[in-house]
Amino acid sequence: MSACRPGCGACCIAPSISSAIPGMPQGKPAGVRCVQLDDANLCRLFGDPRRPAVCERFDYDHSLCGNDRYRALERISALELAT
Ligand code: SF4
Ligand code: SF4
Repeated sequence: MSACRPGCGACCIAPSISSAIPGMPQGKPAGVRCVQLDDANLCRLFGDPRRPAVCERFDYDHSLCGNDRYRALERISALELAT
């Protein structure tokens, strides 16, 4: 069972993504909102083969996602700075 919070979107903002995303051919820097993240913080490419493989692999992880999106943004950003 996934406990991912629909509408969170922290993992589509905090981390950098080095592969190309439709609309972001160079990928995205850390802390920048993905252009495919819609106003409800849902991925527009869900189920679309153009969705980067790295996005498919990002799974809910309580130690990162925490209990709310603010904690998730904080933790994923901290991890990003540490790598
Ligand atoms: S940060 Fe975690 S809870 Fe938030 S959208 Fe990503 S996987 Fe889901
Ligand atoms: S492509 Fe979709 S899942 Fe991947 S970072 Fe962008 S909004 Fe998130």
